[in-house]
Amino acid sequence: MQRLPFCATPLLTVHSHHSASNLMQPYIHAKETARRLGADWRDHLAVHEFIDVAKHACPDLRHRAVLHSHDLGAELAARAFHQLAEARDIALMHIRQDLRCTPGVAEWMTHCDTDKLPRYKPSSVVGPAVIEQAANHLQLEDHSPLQDLWSMLTLPSRAAPAFGDAANCLTMNGIGPVIARMVFGPPRPVPRRGGGDVVLDFGWACEGMIVASARHVPALTRILDCFDGKEPR
Ligand SMILES: [Zn+2]
Repeated sequence: MQRLPFCATPLLTVHSHHSASNLMQPYIHAKETARRLGADWRDHLAVHEFIDVAKHACPDLRHRAVLHSHDLGAELAARAFHQLAEARDIALMHIRQDLRCTPGVAEWMTHCDTDKLPRYKPSSVVGPAVIEQAANHLQLEDHSPLQDLWSMLTLPSRAAPAFGDAANCLTMNGIGPVIARMVFGPPRPVPRRGGGDVVLDFGWACEGMIVASARHVPALTRILDCFDGKEPR
């Protein structure tokens, strides 16, 4: 007797309006986008793994709220895989294959009960202070790498201004440092004030920024428990 894939049944129960064909693994997405763009699936796989990375912290379909969006997920994919010209299109195809549409952060946030979210400090207060503090601590010559990191963490609130800082819950959680690491790459030497280099670890700096904003790093499931589990259509 042929056995079903081990995960098929539990996943199908999460969203009954989606068929099994919607439950695609990164490899299947990669085969599909590579076929459509006439490429090798191995060149697309990392983009799909990026879009689905939050699944590792929330193994049901609610993880899609984090990066299955044109203005956050596809935007960050384009930054993370800037050497791949089609990265944004590949990400958008992935999102459409999963959801049959390419929603923005605002559409996801309509499914969030923002009153239940952890209390974040205002990003206009935290950002400048934490960038200054981290840059001084590390003796950075140039603050711009930390500004870029803060800009990434607060991209959701710029994509969905009607929700204010609450939208940043999508990045300011346990998966945020993982995303930062994928967008900015491994720790790397940057110029030190007064000469020489200092190694900047974007995952670590990201963790510090989230702690400064929320006093701790909320687990992704703590955030996604505030969502109603439905998907934009
Ligand atoms: Zn997906």
